[in-house]
Amino acid sequence: RNGGAIIDGKGFASGVRARVAEHVGRLKAAHGVVPGLAVVLVGEDPASEVYVRNKGIQTREAGMASFEHKLPAETPQEDLLALIGRLNADPAVHGILVQLPLPGHMDAERVINAIDPAKDVDGFHISNVGLLGTGQKSMVPCTPLGCLMLLRDRLGDLSGLNAVVVGRSNIVGKPMAQLLLGDSCTVTIAHSRTKDLAGLCRSADILVAAVGRPRMIRGDWVKPGATVIDVGINRIEEDGRTRLVGDVDSDSAAQVAGAITPVPGGVGPMTIACLLANTLTACCRAHGWPEPE
Ligand code: NDP
Repeated sequence: RNGGAIIDGKGFASGVRARVAEHVGRLKAAHGVVPGLAVVLVGEDPASEVYVRNKGIQTREAGMASFEHKLPAETPQEDLLALIGRLNADPAVHGILVQLPLPGHMDAERVINAIDPAKDVDGFHISNVGLLGTGQKSMVPCTPLGCLMLLRDRLGDLSGLNAVVVGRSNIVGKPMAQLLLGDSCTVTIAHSRTKDLAGLCRSADILVAAVGRPRMIRGDWVKPGATVIDVGINRIEEDGRTRLVGDVDSDSAAQVAGAITPVPGGVGPMTIACLLANTLTACCRAHGWPEPE
């Protein structure tokens, strides 16, 4: 085939998980401490249930403790806040993740901001958002962190590169832009009101797509040789079956890009690997031990 390299996020993520597991083994041997991750799921969103199950499996595979809390959709918000309070106070829990989206009767901001920022392994607490925005040590959101790791591995020094992030959500687009700025890229954040999105994308050395629209970004939007990170996970019906596709039209984009992440097998596996890495980091910080690389 012609065109650029496929970035092996799946392989890279398994390397990250192996390093986390090794570090966890050393903590156990030296201190008898097992890092613990609590995952809270409210309601029965099928995609969320798959994510939560995979998170539990991979947490245990890394030698860490997994605490899963499944609450019915109609749980009062006060009960969820009380659970978060107990997890905040539990010394066996180093990381807390509340799976989003929450049911409509809940105030997601209030819930997320009830998590102890030191245990906020998703990095969504306003304190962590502020710390990231001011370049201070924080918990960094897992998906953008995973994207940054793939970009650094592929490109080395990112400084001076033009980065375009399509999508401005608090969980992907905005923190992604902060991380790229922190690595001295020239960053543009695009969204649904952006004019001439295709032309803007063509100026990008690094193009990150976090839109939630299947195959929206086509090959003729990609600068030749650019590195394309496709965060999108879209379920579509095609040829009579359900398929997962990204926000990038991978067939045409791969012909032009220097490198591109596939869907699945690109950013997705990195997200969970970074969640485990963040939990380990939170555990080390809680005890005042040196942090993993
Ligand atoms: P959101 O729906 O919260 O945000 C989507 C963003 O895309 C918005 O900023 C929106 O703009 C912008 N957008 C929508 N349509 C267009 C358009 N036509 N042109 C330009 N911009 C547009 O999504 P998320 O950030 O939560 O997720 C994005 C994608 O990433 C989804 O497919 C999701 O499934 C996936 N995802 C994958 C993860 C992984 O682990 N790989 C983790 C998290 C998400 P505006 O603000 O103006 O409305």
